[in-house]
Amino acid sequence: KVYTALVENKEMKEMFGVLAVIQDITEMRKLENLRKEFVSNVSHELRTPLTSISGFVETLKKWTIINESDRMKILDIIEFETERLKRLINDILKLSEIENMKLIKEKTNIDVKKSISEVLYLIKPLAENKNIQLEINIGDNLKAIVGNIDWFQQIIMNLCENAVKYTVEGGKITIKATSYDEYLFISVKDTGVGIGKEDIPRIFERFYRVDKARSRQIGGTGLGLAIVKHIVMEFNGEIEVKSEVGKGSEFIVKLPYV
Ligand code: ADP
Repeated sequence: KVYTALVENKEMKEMFGVLAVIQDITEMRKLENLRKEFVSNVSHELRTPLTSISGFVETLKKWTIINESDRMKILDIIEFETERLKRLINDILKLSEIENMKLIKEKTNIDVKKSISEVLYLIKPLAENKNIQLEINIGDNLKAIVGNIDWFQQIIMNLCENAVKYTVEGGKITIKATSYDEYLFISVKDTGVGIGKEDIPRIFERFYRVDKARSRQIGGTGLGLAIVKHIVMEFNGEIEVKSEVGKGSEFIVKLPYV
């Protein structure tokens, strides 16, 4: 975009030049488009469960005679959709908090083994429900990493929750943490459904899901990995995915100590 203006010399009452301001708006336009796309995705994602909830509430109001089993079925759907809305709103708020409040979050020396163990304590019952074996291999003398502990635990939480969600009954999840060459490496490996090569570059995008219906059914919001990516970036780290359809996936997070 080029802005031009005539520059006048008022005393002499004559024009002596043209001022041109050249501004590259490609980047601005890209950001604006991303923002618009996000708002439209959010509206769609929120509207779907809301439409279902209000539709079924109407049905309950209209049907004056309804048997107990039908009434329970409708209430179960309303409960499922309400839970989904709660998760979506939580994830949207988390994402915006990570993006907007970078400097405000308190940083400490994080005891890696202790904070991963706290997350795994919450993951264990989910894995047990699906008869999934958890193998944990975290070094005892790992150096503390500096950062915000809530965000650090959120990385582990989202990766482990996904590993459980996308692994069938009787599978196995291996969680490892090691230090090497001034980096902390955390790996979450599963024997789940795997991710196709063409999908791997896209799974960190907001709301991208390989199989929308499956993700929705198992309670996914499509924001978990976008949150992980943002936090890893905040730690100046990197994340890598190795996966094979039908065999399983491994997410490796590499965080620098300095
Ligand atoms: P969701 O809430 O749908 O799980 P995420 O952002 O956490 O959203 O993940 C995006 C998509 O990446 C998922 O919908 C799923 O298709 C795929 N995915 C993530 N983790 C795994 C995994 N461990 N195994 C297989 N697919 C996965």
